[in-house]
Amino acid sequence: MSTEKGPNFLEEIIEEDIKSGKHGGRVLTRFPPEPNGYLHIGHAKSICLNFGLAKQFGGQTNLRFDDTNPEKEETEYVESIKRDIQWLGFTWANEFYASDYFEQLYGFALELIRKGVAYVDDSTAEEIAAMKGTPTEPGKHSPFRDRSIAENLDLFERMRTGEFRDGERVLRAKIDMASPNMHLRDPLMYRIKHTAHHRTGDAWCIYPMYDFAHGQSDSIERITHSICTLEFAVHRPLYEWFIQQLEIFPSQQYEFARLNLNYTVMSKRRLLQLVKEKIVTGWDDPRMPTISGIRRRGYTPDSIRRFAEMVGVARRENVIDVGMLEFCVREHLNRIATRVMVVLDPIKLVITNYPEGDGEVLQAENNPEVENAGGTREMPFSKELWIERDDFKIIPEKKYFRLAPGLMVRLKHAYIVKCEDYVVDEKGNVTEVRCTYVPESKSGQDTSGINVKGTIHWVSTREAVPCEVRLYDRLFSVEDPSSEEGDFKDYMNPNSLEVIPAAMAEPSLRHAGKDDKFQFIRKGYFCLDADSSAERLVFNRTVPLKDSWAKQKEG
Ligand code: ATP
Ligand code: MG
Repeated sequence: MSTEKGPNFLEEIIEEDIKSGKHGGRVLTRFPPEPNGYLHIGHAKSICLNFGLAKQFGGQTNLRFDDTNPEKEETEYVESIKRDIQWLGFTWANEFYASDYFEQLYGFALELIRKGVAYVDDSTAEEIAAMKGTPTEPGKHSPFRDRSIAENLDLFERMRTGEFRDGERVLRAKIDMASPNMHLRDPLMYRIKHTAHHRTGDAWCIYPMYDFAHGQSDSIERITHSICTLEFAVHRPLYEWFIQQLEIFPSQQYEFARLNLNYTVMSKRRLLQLVKEKIVTGWDDPRMPTISGIRRRGYTPDSIRRFAEMVGVARRENVIDVGMLEFCVREHLNRIATRVMVVLDPIKLVITNYPEGDGEVLQAENNPEVENAGGTREMPFSKELWIERDDFKIIPEKKYFRLAPGLMVRLKHAYIVKCEDYVVDEKGNVTEVRCTYVPESKSGQDTSGINVKGTIHWVSTREAVPCEVRLYDRLFSVEDPSSEEGDFKDYMNPNSLEVIPAAMAEPSLRHAGKDDKFQFIRKGYFCLDADSSAERLVFNRTVPLKDSWAKQKEG
């Protein structure tokens, strides 16, 4: 669907810049995560965009960790971010850290002090907030605003050497306390934090604010197109002000609408709460919208890149239906997943006229979507099989084409059977379905002349492999948990995980590998979970077969 669209506004800007010879036609983008959590699907959108645009125009992309908040940042997050980007299929030109530039940024700050456009403020955070004014009312000048350059230089150096406690002083840019843009009302550049940093250790006790680190880091790396989400549009004048004052490389910022998905929260801060409060099993819980969660759930990098492309680049906030993400993965898995048979809610079927003994081995096609390349595998068939409990009904409703006394179905890859009888226990529950089979109806060589409407899956009881199957649903029960009254965690879907402890799988699944993708026929797409072991196989349902999103769109 996106293939027919013309270029998006970012592509147009880059094309224009290349044409006009700006930066010598060079394109260098960056992806700038803060290592304070695991990446989510919103970040995947940003990654696909930044790396995708660079690739499209023969450029490159830097990975830059925006690590200026020492309390929240950890090396574990750095490692997970790198793993996730690589998994998505992208390669960065350079791995940089904003903390690599601390000395240079400090030098920039000294330069602005010397220019008379930055000052040390001794006011408390509360005093600074009170002097800030409101969007309709100008702010007030701090009593420290007109300090001499010499005094500012002295105080700022002493801030660095650790003479003051946290919060005692800050460095501010001297811009305009009456600006209608609140970000230009003498924004903070540095604060004191006696906190160890994941990379620089105790070397620093002052740390630059986002606004003073981000644009300058872009400029140091000579980034040509600095692409970020819309909430940073109001920061752009400040981004440009610092670059102009410092007369450094003129990187330019462009904004696009962040990705929002319904039934999801997309903020590292909130996702961290789910992890810390053990509402999910970890960052990679398959219900999480993190890249590690959806990877464990069985999503493919292809499907996520395709999703990012379908979402496109908007200049206005919107909410994407999570069904679109499911549509993308379903479409990819349909092409690559091996079809297998697994019975989730087993009941025994006995073929009364099938000979006792070893049974036979049938051939089952792996994937009809792959021409000639899908191959086949062996499927043992015998007198006793597992079938799904709801494939049998004592009293069938109209248009029920599966098993009921007197009705016939085809057993996938095998024979047509006719239900003759059933066995119930003392509580009236069906414990066994008794059938006869038609020997000349074998799949691929059927000469029976019988036509049946239903086909069901099955597993031979003797060879069946018991396994655990985990079925997932949306983590939240409302479309936008963050905007609801109260805490977003009040809106968790209590049924987001259903565990089936003893499903019966065909024996080929004993050899399932961690990257293999399966379609459990009639049940959905599945993959092996990380909790799996040789003794106990565990499968995740990535997505059911039914395509609710495409239906909605048609309707
Ligand atoms: P969060 O609020 O989830 O922590 P963030 O914006 O603080 O997100 P960063 O690590 O600072 O996270 O983001 C790295 C990059 O990813 C930024 O350029 C940011 O704009 C982009 N990004 C973050 N969330 C989204 C989203 N939902 N859609 C698109 N891009 C996003
Ligand atoms: Mg951030």
